[in-house]
Amino acid sequence: MINRTLTACKLLRVAKLLLAEDVLDVDRLVRGVTDWFGWAPSYRSIEVLDDKGWTEWYGKESELLGETGGIMTPEGDIRVKQKSIGSALHELVHGAMKAQGGDPDTSERLNEGVTQAVTMAIAKSLGIKVPDTYKDERQYVMKVLLPAVGMKLGPFSVQYAKAGSAVKWLVDTIWKRGGRFMLADPDWGTPDVARHKKSLTDYFKRGMTFDVQPNAGDMVKYLVFEKGVR
Ligand SMILES: [Zn+2]
Repeated sequence: MINRTLTACKLLRVAKLLLAEDVLDVDRLVRGVTDWFGWAPSYRSIEVLDDKGWTEWYGKESELLGETGGIMTPEGDIRVKQKSIGSALHELVHGAMKAQGGDPDTSERLNEGVTQAVTMAIAKSLGIKVPDTYKDERQYVMKVLLPAVGMKLGPFSVQYAKAGSAVKWLVDTIWKRGGRFMLADPDWGTPDVARHKKSLTDYFKRGMTFDVQPNAGDMVKYLVFEKGVR
């Protein structure tokens, strides 16, 4: 009898957890993001829309954005599709980056990769499931970028958000750790610090590929995979 009661309790708890996935507990998400960064996300409002509301609000653009479950307007209004709690968390992570003065100046895909990597780490600590969006970009962040700067995701994301220019911070950090390898290898052409730093800057603004394979023309992957920068 006792066993049966215990089992019933367990089942009830599981059912509650499952239900909780569909209920947008904004405070809990904001707390998770605040604990991660050490400051609160910046946003004006957050609202859940049903499929019809989402399509209406988002209009034609929802087709362009494919499976995106949430978005934040420039004014800071977050709208998420029903049952997209993970997307609400993702938008709040954007809000935390913005709280430091604006979107980081890296390419959009890189910024989404960092945002989603942080989203998944916070979701794990909160016990929330999130859709695995921006998978290539996120894996690039975890397997290439973090070794290149020699940091774990937590301190990395804080520095990335606070840097003022995230691109400049990435270039300077990576150059300090691996620049000597670039200068010593004639395959990279004239050993000119300014030229190499300019290439790295362009790379983080637009020119990167997000696979995690060694790639002959990719400076950061060269440092990580061929020179063992960690
Ligand atoms: Zn995003």
